[in-house]
Amino acid sequence: MERRGGGDEAKTFYHVISPFRARADIRRARMHREAQGRRLRIPVLNEDQLEELMKKPTVEELVKASDKVRPLHTPMGKIQPGDWLEWHPENGQTFREYLACDPVTAQGGRKTIYIQPLGEFTEGQRKIVDLTAEFMGLYFCLPVKVKEGLPLDLVPESERRIGPLGVLQLKTGYVRNDILRPRLPDDATVYIAFTASDLWPGPGWNFVFGEASLVHRVGVWSICRFGKPDGSKEEFAKTLLRTIKIGTHETGHMFTIEHCTAWECNMCGSNHLDESDRRPLWLCPECMPKVCYATGANPARRYRGLAKFCQKHGLDAQAAFYDKSAKALTGGE
Ligand SMILES: [Zn+2]
Ligand SMILES: [Zn+2]
Repeated sequence: MERRGGGDEAKTFYHVISPFRARADIRRARMHREAQGRRLRIPVLNEDQLEELMKKPTVEELVKASDKVRPLHTPMGKIQPGDWLEWHPENGQTFREYLACDPVTAQGGRKTIYIQPLGEFTEGQRKIVDLTAEFMGLYFCLPVKVKEGLPLDLVPESERRIGPLGVLQLKTGYVRNDILRPRLPDDATVYIAFTASDLWPGPGWNFVFGEASLVHRVGVWSICRFGKPDGSKEEFAKTLLRTIKIGTHETGHMFTIEHCTAWECNMCGSNHLDESDRRPLWLCPECMPKVCYATGANPARRYRGLAKFCQKHGLDAQAAFYDKSAKALTGGE
């Protein structure tokens, strides 16, 4: 936990989850390990190894990494009735096309992903939000901070209704524009609200899982329709998988990544939960380098972090795939 000073932020507590420590922290840890190592004979990183660790991959390195993992991936299957591409024909986006469109990247002082819990959560739902924050840190290789929750009564009567499921729905535009945008932290690369209430964008819609602004770096997602995480272990794992899939997919859009139309990939559009369940958690060889370019992540280290998370949380197939991908990049080390 960390306390920040100044203005509105003075009363705000953050839960900080950072997959990679800052350079100063790594140096401090190295000095500590050096002192320990002298006693315990532990090998420590030298200056060159440390520089290597902090280096951003070049476009050329990302293209090479993409080629190495390509054989592990499957081209997109046949479009099924009701699928996203049947309703919304799209052209897709290669890594080269992505580079040419001057994408949003994490840079300067804006490198933190903020998650904003909105309204009440059950214990299981709250666990899902915290684990999603941890996963997003590993997926985008950026620090993630979970802000102190905001109450639902911030949403006025005119911006809420009882929806088709018989439960409360919040209007997405109000959450994005009136709740998140005035509170967007200076160092935020993106700012995302998670709520257990259902969402709808307005007239003509029944509901949406979430909605993101590609311009204002804010978005909102509901975990209402993803399962019952307070039930069995299997139900918890299913809800977690759905939430981390949608959370990372929508955040990918905020880094200017368009829908994938060529591969089985987490950036494929999805019209309904069945379609989203059919798509993998991982990114295809065209979309993985986009995330690494936008965030400066090292692909092999990213795969290893994701494999470890999935192993720990019962996502065995995903863990095996990430592990295989890391080994394809490092020659099985
Ligand atoms: Zn999408
Ligand atoms: Zn893709």
